[in-house]
Amino acid sequence: MRSVSVFGATGSIGESTFDLLMRQGGPDTYRTVALTGGRNVARLAEQAKALRAEVAVVADDRLLPDLRAALAGTGVVAAAGQNALLEAADRPADWTMSGIVGAAGLGPGFRALSHGGTLALANKESLVTAGPLLMAEARRHGARVLPVDSEHSAVFQALVGEDMAAVETITITASGGAFRDWPLDRLAQATVAEASTHPNWDMGQRITIDSASMFNKALEVIETHEFFGIAPDRIEVLVHPESLVHAVVGFRDGGMIGHLGAPDMRHAIGYALNWPERKTLPVARLDLAAAGRLTFSAPDPVRYPALRLAREVMAAGGLCGAAFNAAKECALDAFIDGRIGFTAMAGVVEEVLSRLSAASALGKAAANLDMVLETDRDARRVAGEIIDATQGN
Ligand code: NAD
Ligand code: MG
Repeated sequence: MRSVSVFGATGSIGESTFDLLMRQGGPDTYRTVALTGGRNVARLAEQAKALRAEVAVVADDRLLPDLRAALAGTGVVAAAGQNALLEAADRPADWTMSGIVGAAGLGPGFRALSHGGTLALANKESLVTAGPLLMAEARRHGARVLPVDSEHSAVFQALVGEDMAAVETITITASGGAFRDWPLDRLAQATVAEASTHPNWDMGQRITIDSASMFNKALEVIETHEFFGIAPDRIEVLVHPESLVHAVVGFRDGGMIGHLGAPDMRHAIGYALNWPERKTLPVARLDLAAAGRLTFSAPDPVRYPALRLAREVMAAGGLCGAAFNAAKECALDAFIDGRIGFTAMAGVVEEVLSRLSAASALGKAAANLDMVLETDRDARRVAGEIIDATQGN
């Protein structure tokens, strides 16, 4: 029986993963090792019971008594806190979903690689902050990393049987997010509620807001660079409001292979779950005649400054990705908490990068995870100072 673990089981990616596991036989098909959630104890306990998990972990350790109570008499071990998350990752599983949001997903994903197996990587922040370390760790333990981000799954599928040496370009698409058609001068006033509505995808709140600012696409450009080992200048982004073409790979003979599908993450998750087999998935089939037209345009650099920052981060390399991601997470928190405006986020991130690169060698390669975590902490501290100063104005 195949063993599985799901980190971030109660989130958007986690729920889709849970749905697929249940549809594919649940506890009759899979031995579930660990399920983890951030704070939603009730839902985590429900999932753990349905899949008969060995252990359920809630990230917030104050919630341990609640989780214990919810799991009493079920045989599922309840645990809580950061160490418990890492210990859950130490339990061998054939397939692990890395579905925690943010840099918090890095540690558990990294630890899961140590027993080989497959890491299905939704947590793009792992690659942005520590791509070379993560991929080296996978190689060292004979583990496999499969992409779950829809664009990267699309590229991965377009590359089956292909030689990377024949690839000229990788284009990932972006819907343009909630404010694609807004007048630029309204963006500064955009509210959290407005930014939290995605035109095509149903996702967690943070990635949805990151789609409106294109910080999500900025992370994904770096993710493309780290995962496929392709030079930054060969990676392109196109605004594609229909969100039906997820990525296009251009080859040196002039041919291009694109990947199309309905905007439903269960396709990419199911592909990673069943790889290399394709199984029937509960995803809507595309009716291209009904869609009628597919449109593409170059992203506006004024509307989406995050894309320029991603290019600067890739040019600097090394620890710059860790600083970029941490600064972005802080700016996003500050926007969600109403402390800064929507358009101020990019300014905060840019200022963090500029201050940190003046103070230290951000381009230095990370020798280990501790260096990444230290840069993450530095960037959060500096971002906090900048945000406080912004508010004081
Ligand atoms: P989400 O916010 O819906 O869920 C995140 C999960 O992580 C939840 O289970 C939450 O409880 C848990 N969590 C949050 N903070 C935590 C912490 N500090 N420690 C431990 N657990 C914590 O997020 P999501 O939209 O499912 O995204 C998850 C990851 O997948 C992100 O990296 C995102 O960029 C990526 N991704 C998501 C989608 C999507 O459709 N939602 C698509 C592509 C990629
Ligand atoms: Mg994506």
